Amino acid sequence: MSAPTVDLMDYSDVIARFEPVLGMEVHVELNTATKMFCGCPTEFGAQPNTQVCPVCLGLPGSLPVVNQKAVESAIRIGLALNCTITPWGRFARKNYFYPDQPKNYQISQYDEPIATNGHLDVLLDDGSTFRVEIERAHMEEDTGKSVHIGGATGRIHGASHSLLDYNRAGVPLIEIVTKPITGAGERAPEVARAYVTALRDLLKALGVSDVKMEQGSLRCDANVSLMPIGATEFGTRTETKNVNSLRSVEVAVRFEMRRQAAVLAGGGTIVQETRHFHETDGTTSPGRRKETAEDYRYFPEPDLEPVAPDAEWVEQLRGTIPEYPWLRRARIQSDWGLSHEVMRDLVNAGALDLIIATVDAGAPANEARSWWVAYLTEKAKEREVPLDELPITPAQVAEVIKLVDAKSINNKVAKQVVDYVLAGEGDPAQIVEAKGLGMVSDDSALQAEVEKALAANPDIADKIRSGKVQAAGKIVGDVMKATRGQADAARVRELVLAACV
Ligand code: ADP
Ligand code: MG
Ligand code: ZN
Repeated sequence: MSAPTVDLMDYSDVIARFEPVLGMEVHVELNTATKMFCGCPTEFGAQPNTQVCPVCLGLPGSLPVVNQKAVESAIRIGLALNCTITPWGRFARKNYFYPDQPKNYQISQYDEPIATNGHLDVLLDDGSTFRVEIERAHMEEDTGKSVHIGGATGRIHGASHSLLDYNRAGVPLIEIVTKPITGAGERAPEVARAYVTALRDLLKALGVSDVKMEQGSLRCDANVSLMPIGATEFGTRTETKNVNSLRSVEVAVRFEMRRQAAVLAGGGTIVQETRHFHETDGTTSPGRRKETAEDYRYFPEPDLEPVAPDAEWVEQLRGTIPEYPWLRRARIQSDWGLSHEVMRDLVNAGALDLIIATVDAGAPANEARSWWVAYLTEKAKEREVPLDELPITPAQVAEVIKLVDAKSINNKVAKQVVDYVLAGEGDPAQIVEAKGLGMVSDDSALQAEVEKALAANPDIADKIRSGKVQAAGKIVGDVMKATRGQADAARVRELVLAACV
């Protein structure tokens, strides 16, 4: 369905006349093993309706129990966002009817969220930072999924029937809501993208979610309004739902700014509504009129105890908050003396975290970098998987590097060892041992091979003796061949020259 044509104002005119205000709502699915209020598994991609039980199907008489690990993740997220953690807060029922929500209400948090009043300083493209104030982060449960069959674009419109999969119903979600973001001006679309990027990287570093926007484990709604420059009262906002890539966040905000500006300049008014984002052409179209909080008839969830994290636990969790990924990146860039471009390539290649982990496992930075960006990147391309899905760990790469540095194997054999690791044959040292790949460094064994090779090539031996040291290459090659490539070539060369004086 192609959207009707919409008037858009030139972006520079938008900026000249209006001040944008943004509000970002991000839902993140936690990576806990089980759901928020029951023991069902949360793994993505299972057969429909195989990960369900009476609790997450909302059957009468079933009772929810809070997942402690999810509360822990929520607190850690709150702390990382510089929020205050509430010492006592209740869950709330958000009542609405929708087929993907079998209880007819969602357990969420309303006026007593786990975390409030924080901020996140996000890095913009020019290296400056922009502070985004956080209003709250609260816990809730995900809904199931409706699959509409027969329609054109998977939407309910035009579908012959719909199927429901409740595997996702009850998966722990954290919703993170910003305060209105003002003062971004022209950079509003960039700020929106930078914020979601920073949040994604932070959540990843916290290890609380796999933050895959394309699989829906990180979902973003972008609220946008405009007010005339100099005005003090915010304009009416629209909420563009489920903007599911970082680029789309920027595109959607910019589009809404241009659309709203055209409406306002033409004397129209903006209706408060949700809007759908269309990935294909970067436009938005109207969704439903926005419910108000009263529509949801929130009330405290009677089946659950309040969440009351004790101060000591919160302080202990504070100790687990990692350095912000972008600050860590800046520190590493300067520690390793890398240019901005090299660093950006490492990040884009998805290699940076792997290199850091390899260094943390004891490898020198240069060697760690070279393995990941060269040989392993090549292997990942061959297998058509992202670098971090290669079946080799940073610790194993560090072990290979250690074996080379200790001259237990040479570089050529190191690649074979890596191939064996990728083939699932075990750890590097184990493989070297089991396959007899260790470097022949026993001088007497090498000496014997050198003498054999010299005796087999008397003319070359003579050349070397008469001072033509380049001729030694052939002898070194023969010895390497005889040792199946497992000798230290530099040492072999020394022995050849020593034998010819
Ligand atoms: P809702 O229930 O409508 O989703 P939320 O409070 O969860 O409301 O989220 C609304 C988001 O929009 C928040 O980030 C808030 O800061 C932001 N916001 C509020 N008013 C405006 C406005 N006039 N323009 C842009 N954003 C706004
Ligand atoms: Mg909301
Ligand atoms: Zn369940």
